Amino acid sequence: MRILITGAAGFLGSHLCDRLLTEGHTIIGMDNFITGSPDNIAHLAGNENFSFYKRDVSNYLFVPGKVDAILHFASPASPNPQSPSGYFNLPIQTMKAGALGTHNCLGIARAQNARFLLASTSEIYGDPEVHPQKETYAGNVDPVGTRAVYDEAKRFAESLTMAYHRAHGVNTSIVRIFNTYGPRMDLEDGRALPNLLKQALLDQPLTVYGTGGQTRSFCYVDDLVDGIIRLLYSDEHMPVNIGNPNEMTILQFAQAINKIVGNKAGITYVPDARSERDPQRRQPDITRAREILGWEPKVSLEEGIRRTIPFFKQKLGVA
Ligand code: UDP
Repeated sequence: MRILITGAAGFLGSHLCDRLLTEGHTIIGMDNFITGSPDNIAHLAGNENFSFYKRDVSNYLFVPGKVDAILHFASPASPNPQSPSGYFNLPIQTMKAGALGTHNCLGIARAQNARFLLASTSEIYGDPEVHPQKETYAGNVDPVGTRAVYDEAKRFAESLTMAYHRAHGVNTSIVRIFNTYGPRMDLEDGRALPNLLKQALLDQPLTVYGTGGQTRSFCYVDDLVDGIIRLLYSDEHMPVNIGNPNEMTILQFAQAINKIVGNKAGITYVPDARSERDPQRRQPDITRAREILGWEPKVSLEEGIRRTIPFFKQKLGVA
């Protein structure tokens, strides 16, 4: 297939490029580098099956030649208010990538009769009142809250995707991505894994926000990419959660990182650092992914962190 990937220079986009190239596809990557990095795709320069366009997906997009599939992954995605690359600090760009970017990609999918895959998010569930989250749960999002620029853009993107499917018969799919980690994460984007692993490798105490009693479920990137590719190859149209159901508190997560790295500096609590409406609990129900895609994660937290450490050490310049 000839596949367009927006957000190709991002954490997930670049892993998708690698994996789909390995499977023999031709990839057209797009990114405007507002949160992605040229470093993530530098190794693909010279690959005859990879081409790249520096574009903002919220503007009209033109792709020469036939396109068989479109994976729309372009968007800021970090919820950390302190981070310049977080969506709190890129509010309009985030809404445009989710709304106008999705519209442009769906337009190409319709014109080209291509499979479309939307990168959606567990954030569409907001601060969930139902646990674990099944795809049938409609969510708890404040449309004027500060996280809304991301959450509502992705909710709109899902609605628009289903509208193109229902009105125009476009072959669409929606993946709801839960917390994911691995090499090529932005060390400075303020999310839990980059912050905590960086601190552990620098022998610093790990910053646990609030009491650390809030939960997340962390998926290693290779598992996530495997699930997304299965969804791409399927003919499913309704949303599918992809994530690791292994739920833990952020305190347990920090303690696990300290143990794996051998960091003796412990934990420091930062009581006021949680963002507004930081979800208290988050865990995917992956029954649909198991049944429809035959998918479930395979990499343990310990193994995933071990595989992530060399990238972080290289970026930090530590041995
Ligand atoms: N968090 C933390 N310390 C950090 C960074 C994040 O305790 O240095 C917490 C944050 O408050 C949230 C959880 O870790 O409850 C996950 O945050 P992240 O930014 O990774 O993304 P989210 O899951 O909220 O989308």
